[in-house]
Amino acid sequence: MNSNQDIFKKIVSHSKEYGFIFQSSEIYDGLSAVYDYAQNGVELKNNIKKYWWASMVQMNDNIVGLDSAILMHPKTWKASGHVDAFNDPLIDNKDSKLRYRADVLIEDYIAKIESKIQKEINKAQKRFGDSFDEIQFRKTNQRVLDNQKKIDNTIEQMKKCFQEDDLLALKKLIDELGIADPVSGSRNWTDIKQFNLMFSTKVGASSDSSSEIYLRPETAQGIFVNFLNVQKSSRKKIPFGIAQIGKAFRNEIIARQFIFRMREFEQMEMQFFVKPGTQSEWYKKWKETRMNWHKSLGISEENYRFHDHDKLAHYADAACDIEYKFPFGFKELEGIHSRTNFDLTQHESHSGKKLKYFDPEDNKSYVPYVVETSIGLDRMFLAILSSSFFEEKLENDSIRTVLKIPPFLAPFKAAILPLVKKDGLSEFAKKLYDNLKIHYNISYDEKDAVGRRYRRQDAIGTPLCITVDHDSLNDNMITIRDRDTMKQKRVKIKDLKSEIDKLVNISNWLSKS
Ligand code: ATP
Repeated sequence: MNSNQDIFKKIVSHSKEYGFIFQSSEIYDGLSAVYDYAQNGVELKNNIKKYWWASMVQMNDNIVGLDSAILMHPKTWKASGHVDAFNDPLIDNKDSKLRYRADVLIEDYIAKIESKIQKEINKAQKRFGDSFDEIQFRKTNQRVLDNQKKIDNTIEQMKKCFQEDDLLALKKLIDELGIADPVSGSRNWTDIKQFNLMFSTKVGASSDSSSEIYLRPETAQGIFVNFLNVQKSSRKKIPFGIAQIGKAFRNEIIARQFIFRMREFEQMEMQFFVKPGTQSEWYKKWKETRMNWHKSLGISEENYRFHDHDKLAHYADAACDIEYKFPFGFKELEGIHSRTNFDLTQHESHSGKKLKYFDPEDNKSYVPYVVETSIGLDRMFLAILSSSFFEEKLENDSIRTVLKIPPFLAPFKAAILPLVKKDGLSEFAKKLYDNLKIHYNISYDEKDAVGRRYRRQDAIGTPLCITVDHDSLNDNMITIRDRDTMKQKRVKIKDLKSEIDKLVNISNWLSKS
């Protein structure tokens, strides 16, 4: 087992032990790829939502919110293409009986070659030091050139298979590349089949097929069908956007990797409606804006990268992902798609209702183009959890596990800890707690030695521990301990609120996003 997998396992068990994430229906042995957010997880999740919402809706006077229903008229999904085209190309391994997405197998193959190139670069960098020129090296090193050629050819061939909808050629490509089942190593594959990812159910008591409806596989369509309602009632002019946070459901096949790929998950999506012809400009703008949002969190910038799509979805004229370096490698965290006027035009033709916008500046009507930013809330949660998980060796050789979550996203902003329960310290500390809890989510803990209480707060990412001791009763001062540096300082109680504010106030982050 390599060390990244090791860390990932630790993060998963930490999430359970410290009340972030539980497996759904665990007492019945769990439901695969479905998870529950526990007492600390729900706080972190809500804080991520709040930050995204504020940076989209509060900070942009041309973006408004929406909360549309999960259940929608079944024609919605016919119009969007999900009934006919929301398919994954699946392939089974005959020996291991495991099922995979064919394109993911090929992308993993490409990622392996990419990491070979990276190894060559790292080696050369070490050898040449400051004088190393990576661009020149990529252009001249024969091994790198050969590997890059392999990658380019593979992408080219895969693209062609998807463009021509040729599953036989896709299977041939997997055989030719010698791709093996990552679990069993076997190359004994079945043919590739398409599988629809939507969950269906029935509405009302009737059991005939006309009553079949779907759980939405994306929140976007709720925005599209409401486009004109929102535009008219908000009197927004194009360009403007509609933001929504909500659940989506996909009957995923490869349901591994914890909350990275779930069957019930949450999306934070914003559809930005623009004048036809201006979409590529807005696409660029949103690419940059969204990357800045991620960077504003203070997570190492090396953990993020763009990945431009080789295989464009049927509705897109440009698309990329923001990928995050999860413990199991770089994977999609957010998608940014230039969706053209596909969705609105489709809904016009399936509903028979006009979804055109009258542009008062040009004095004409048109169906707007759409640029979408769509981020998985659960994947963002996992990105934060994995970037903040540290095991640090202390001076006395003990290990402390700490979650260095961006302070304003932490489940609790501070913990109040009376040094001992007696001598009036508890009463004093509780008063402090009562005064602060109207401003922030504050934890109160008086059990065990204070060192152990510090560890408990470190493990759930509480940025500040506030200790009340005997002197506090007389001098009205408390000790603040910083989670990341473990440094302590003595502060007057009257200055405490502004000390906490400095660290956790969301506006400090919003101004950077
Ligand atoms: P993937 O290629 O990983 O399946 P996707 O390209 O199908 O993702 P989109 O349809 O673009 O994903 O959805 C937008 C975002 O929703 C993704 O960037 C991801 O963060 C999130 N997402 C999609 N599917 C899941 C899932 N099964 N579980 C958790 N989050 C998901």
